[in-house]
Amino acid sequence: MERHERISAKLAKFRPSLTLSLKALVAERRREGLPVYDFGLGETKGRLQSQLREAGERAYREEQTMYGDPAGLFELRREVLRWLDLEHHYTPDDVVITAGAKQSLFNIFLAVCNPADCVLFDAAPWVSYQPLAVAAYAFPVMVVPRSRLKVSGDDLRRNLDLRPQTKLFLLNNPCNPTAQLYDADEVEDLLSICVEHRVFFVLDRLYWKIVFDGAQYPEPRIDETTKPWLIQVDGLSKNFRRAGGLRIGWSVAPTDVARAMANLQSHYTSGPSTPAQHVALEAIHHAYDDELRADLERKRDAVTLWAGRLPHVDVWPTPATFYSFWDVTGTFGKRTPAGEAISSSQDLARYLLEHAGVVTAAGSAFLQEGYLRVSFAVPEEELEAGLASAASALAELR
Ligand code: PMP
Repeated sequence: MERHERISAKLAKFRPSLTLSLKALVAERRREGLPVYDFGLGETKGRLQSQLREAGERAYREEQTMYGDPAGLFELRREVLRWLDLEHHYTPDDVVITAGAKQSLFNIFLAVCNPADCVLFDAAPWVSYQPLAVAAYAFPVMVVPRSRLKVSGDDLRRNLDLRPQTKLFLLNNPCNPTAQLYDADEVEDLLSICVEHRVFFVLDRLYWKIVFDGAQYPEPRIDETTKPWLIQVDGLSKNFRRAGGLRIGWSVAPTDVARAMANLQSHYTSGPSTPAQHVALEAIHHAYDDELRADLERKRDAVTLWAGRLPHVDVWPTPATFYSFWDVTGTFGKRTPAGEAISSSQDLARYLLEHAGVVTAAGSAFLQEGYLRVSFAVPEEELEAGLASAASALAELR
């Protein structure tokens, strides 16, 4: 035993982000020339909008490469308020630009949590919520809903009553991985319970432009009672094609929280890359191009058509995002043609990959055993061929 463990007890337990490791797996299969239908993806492909590419090129040409404000470019912070229709409620001082939405979330945990403060997550928390909370010395707890995978007001109250140390409740709406969309009444219910308990309501709205069937995004109520407790997180990664690698996100928070986060950034990142912030400014300055949402809605419809043809699988409705969420408990206890038993979502994910070339994300990564997350943000031919391949692999389970 070494006198000092080289890696801290906290970080030694971390595993690499599942979704990023899937990306490595896909690359490996492609290198080996094996068939692969990549439904593991947490991003949209296609082309970066040309005006975004040009904004980046311009920023470099004009040498916009000196240190900026650690909270982010003033013009971008102002534009974020316009993008979220919040100009009448906040000032640019309440906005902090970050290296992706991930850093906004980490900033929030660091800014408001004392060691062992409890942070409550929505059911099926996205893979990085827990590690980020733990890294900030907070104590993460998933709210286990009484019905399916949506947290009700009663569920939240029950957890708040049980855990007086709770500092915040994080809602991901719409949700990665379940694709569920809380409606305006549900959001209002959860928000007002947080306000009543003096607990922060953190809304991760990263997929808010990708809602289907003509639904409006259910905006949280903003007034003098909710404002001190409401923190919103958003960014470029999902609502724009090919934009995840730009690493730009943002938060809008009460002024004291925003100031604490900006102070923190002044010490550890000095704010995100300035050229990338210029790209973000260009992205959200113009009217939003609905092309991405429309394309994903067509793909959602295609997956819905396939739903009845996938043996042993119950496909959830998909009102938003680009994930199809499959209840795969019907495959448990069955055997593959090679005689291996399927007893977990990881077993099934491995079988689908090795037998059908289909990459999915096992629900266990989101603390939801019994489910698979299937990303349909892929080209149409790949979607059809991959679903056909998955359907025949599923039919071979006995
Ligand atoms: N929140 C959710 C729900 C996400 O799905 C993701 C990315 N997959 C993030 C936050 C992090 O986003 P970013 O890549 O902008 O850091």
